[in-house]
Amino acid sequence: MKKDWKNILKPVIDTYWGKKIELDYETPFQLLCAVILSAQTTDKQVNRITPPFFARVREARDVIDMPIEEIEEHLKYVNFFRNKSRFIKETGTILATQYEWILPNDLKLIQTFPGIGVKTAKVVLSVLYDMPYVWVDTHIHRVMNRLWVVDTKTPEQTDKKLDTVFDTPTKKIIHHPIVLFGRYHCTARAPKCHTCSIANDCKYNNSKKK
Ligand code: SF4
Repeated sequence: MKKDWKNILKPVIDTYWGKKIELDYETPFQLLCAVILSAQTTDKQVNRITPPFFARVREARDVIDMPIEEIEEHLKYVNFFRNKSRFIKETGTILATQYEWILPNDLKLIQTFPGIGVKTAKVVLSVLYDMPYVWVDTHIHRVMNRLWVVDTKTPEQTDKKLDTVFDTPTKKIIHHPIVLFGRYHCTARAPKCHTCSIANDCKYNNSKKK
């Protein structure tokens, strides 16, 4: 029989209800910048380096005339800062010339922007426009496989599978709770199974008892 994952995950959703993305930002363009910067870098590190940058850059128009060297100087303490600086500057130009400064709310379209893959696109669209996308990062991939909601090898495979597992209202609410649950409870090393509210439905936990 198919498991009712929405119901099983309810205690986790309730625990982390109302939590927001852990990247700091004030404007849609700053969110886009922060998400681009967070690839291969922790949210904490992104939040550490963005305040002076965001004091200069609130909107896409602010990067148009900003020398790339200045952007790089602001962002030099994140991985791949040169590429990310270029992505941010080019995105500003694209928004200016093709979209009247507004980020399009279209999954395919937004992935045509430099440096924006499916995960970044889903983060931005679900946070800014409340669209029903679960963006699969390492935490969601791990938790979903431990529970056996999916049985996949890569986050990309998990991303495709999850689209068919949850209904639209669930997709809208599930992302932050599961990421935080993975980050702080169902951690990669030493998950806290002894205090886990969904341990009975967890394949990983049940397999340890055998
Ligand atoms: S029982 Fe352990 S492995 Fe399973 S979901 Fe809970 S914390 Fe994660």
